[in-house]
Amino acid sequence: MTSGMCVRCGGRIAALQKESVVREKARQLSDQASYPVIYRMLKGVMLCGICLDALPLIGHEICQRCGRDKEFQASTGTEGLCRDCVHGEDDQILVANRSLLRYEKGEKDLLGLFKYRGDERIALYYGTLLAITVQRYYRSMGFICITTVPLHPQRLRERGFNQVDLLARHLGAAIKIPAKPLLLRTKDTPKLSKQKGRTARHESMLKAFVWNGQGMPSAAKILLLDDIYTTGSTLRSCARTIREHLGPSCEVYSLTIYR
Ligand SMILES: [Zn+2]
Ligand SMILES: [Zn+2]
Repeated sequence: MTSGMCVRCGGRIAALQKESVVREKARQLSDQASYPVIYRMLKGVMLCGICLDALPLIGHEICQRCGRDKEFQASTGTEGLCRDCVHGEDDQILVANRSLLRYEKGEKDLLGLFKYRGDERIALYYGTLLAITVQRYYRSMGFICITTVPLHPQRLRERGFNQVDLLARHLGAAIKIPAKPLLLRTKDTPKLSKQKGRTARHESMLKAFVWNGQGMPSAAKILLLDDIYTTGSTLRSCARTIREHLGPSCEVYSLTIYR
């Protein structure tokens, strides 16, 4: 049985050939309780066995706050935190971030393709990876909804779609949690890559979002979705706006494909 083409190499996905890789990766990503679900999701991922095997999965040792792979950190800090998180402010705005993959070179091309074309197959592929990430790290969290980092209306008009909303739709369907837009973007911040340094990024993100949600309980746990966690300043800015409205008993956790 074949199940279509691999989103990475374009080759045919041969289910039989893929089977042993699916089992191995499922064991790597799960415990006993989550194995059947993760196994089934991996089987459905639109990758051939070779590309599945080559995925840069984040390992078992991670920074407990930002979800970064310890193996790839220059140096680690105390209490399970990476160097950036040890030196960052401990404001608890964002409880934690979790991601599935390291942002390596081959991954940049696929994400770029998705961002600018909004390819529906890649959206489904990434949606499944995000569902696996929820199973891996956030299984019993009881999130009330998924929400996304919004685009500025001007950018949305130019692009025609918000790629993260496509991901939220697929993820929501997979884990049966509704996706709700809770925020609007009021500042069209320059591309993060064009801004110099952590402080500049942080400042340009202040007051970039406003609340646009309705009927949310104050003690909600919210899953905030984006494609990549770089410094976390965008996600923290979103989380800050959510907490300003729902109050301190609300908890915001973020989820991204890449870290
Ligand atoms: Zn492939
Ligand atoms: Zn960290």
